[in-house]
Amino acid sequence: MAAERPPSVDRLVREVDGLGLPQPLVVDAVRAALAGGGPELVEGHVEAAARRLMLPVINATGVLLHTNLGRAPLAVGRDASYTNLEFDLATGKRSSRHETVGAVLARACGAEAALVVNNGAAGVMLALAALAQDQGVAVSRGELIEVGGGFRLPDVMALSGARLVEVGTTNRTRAADYESVLDEVAVVFKVHRSNYRITGFTEDAPVKALADLARPLVVDLGSGLLDASCPWLADGPPEWLRGEPAVRQTLTAGADLVLFSGDKLLGGPQAGVIAGKAQFVEACARHPLYRAMRPGALVLATLQDVALAYLGRDAASLPFWRMALTSQSDLLRRAHGLGHGTVVDCASITGGGTLPGVEIPSAGIALQGDVTAELRSRSPKPIIARIENDATVLDLRTVDPDDDCLLVDALAAMS
Ligand SMILES: *Cc1c(COP(=O)(O)O)cnc(C)c1O
Repeated sequence: MAAERPPSVDRLVREVDGLGLPQPLVVDAVRAALAGGGPELVEGHVEAAARRLMLPVINATGVLLHTNLGRAPLAVGRDASYTNLEFDLATGKRSSRHETVGAVLARACGAEAALVVNNGAAGVMLALAALAQDQGVAVSRGELIEVGGGFRLPDVMALSGARLVEVGTTNRTRAADYESVLDEVAVVFKVHRSNYRITGFTEDAPVKALADLARPLVVDLGSGLLDASCPWLADGPPEWLRGEPAVRQTLTAGADLVLFSGDKLLGGPQAGVIAGKAQFVEACARHPLYRAMRPGALVLATLQDVALAYLGRDAASLPFWRMALTSQSDLLRRAHGLGHGTVVDCASITGGGTLPGVEIPSAGIALQGDVTAELRSRSPKPIIARIENDATVLDLRTVDPDDDCLLVDALAAMS
C-alpha cells in the first residue's frame, strides 16, 4: 500500500531507469538497496534484478550441451494458436497427446511406440513405476550412476516403488549375473554410464545377451543418439561419436524399452522419451504418474519438429549438430576475423553428461588473465567463457556466428 511506503521509495522508483522491469520488481530492488546501504545502490540493484531474469546468453565455453546454459539451443517461434493436442481431426473425437508426437518419434527411431515426459529422470521413474512397482529390478553394480543435479539411480528407483536388486561387481558384470536373479525381478534394467568410464579389467553384458535372457529389458541410454549410423549427416558419424550407443541399434538388439533425454545428443527441447514395444509404452501412458510428468503443447510441438527433421534427414540443420560439426578451420577463420585477443586451438566437449573424455578440436580467442566476470556483465547478452591455464578462453564452436559481432564489441571494450 502506497501510503505505508516511505516516500523516498516512491521517489526513487520514479526516478531510476527501471530497465523495462514491471514496477513491483523495481520497488523490491529499491527497498533492497535502501536496506543494504542507501540510494546510491539503487541503480546496481535494479540492474541486478534485470539480470536475475532468464536471458539469452552467449555460450563461449565450448560445452555444447551445457546444463547450466539450457543444454541444446533451439529456435522456437510460434503464433498464439490452438492445436489438435488431444483432438483427432479425422474423427472429431478426443485423442491422446502422446499418440501424435509419440508416433513420429517412434518412426524416427524404429520403435513400435513412444511416449514423451518432462525429462529423462521422469522417464526412468515412470518406466520403473509402470513395469516394476513393488517388484525387483536387476541393475549392474557398475551402472548405479549419479547423473548430476542429485539424480542418483538408487534414489529414483526407490521413489518409483521398484526394489533394487544389484548384480555383478563395479567393474565386471556378466549376463550370468542377471540370470541368477531372474526369479526375483520383474525388469532387467541396463543403464548407459553416460558421464564416466570404467577402464581396465572390465566386462559388461551386451544388450543382445540380456534380451535373450529376460523380458522386459529396459535400457536407459540417457544421451539419446537416435541412430549410430547418423543417416542425417552427409559424411556419417563423426569420429568423436564412435562407440556411443544409439536408440535404434539398442532396440534392434532386443531392448523392450529405451529411455533417453530430448535435450542431449538429440538436440531438442528438455524432454524424456520412452520408446519401444507398444505394450510397455502403453503401460507407462496408463500409469497415474504420467499425468504429472507429461509436457505441454510447446514442448511437444518443438519435439515433433525435431523428430520430423530427423525423418527428413535434415537433422544436421538443428543447432546442436550444426555447431558440433563445424570444422576447426572454419572456427579458426572466424577467430581471426574477430580481430582481438590471441587466436588459439582449443577443445570443445559435448557435455550434459554425455561422451566423457571426448574432445572435439575447436578454435577461439584467448585473453590474458581471468576476465570472465567482465564478460558475464555484458549486455544485451552476457558472455560465458572458461578459464584455461590462467587465461580466459572463448571457444567459438558454441557461439552462434550471428553473435560474433557482440563478441567483437565486448573484446573492443575490454582492450
Ligand atoms: C542424463 C541422464 C538421465 C537424466 O536425464 P535428464 O533429461 O537430465 O533428466 C538419466 N539417465 C541417464 C543414463 C542419463 O545420461
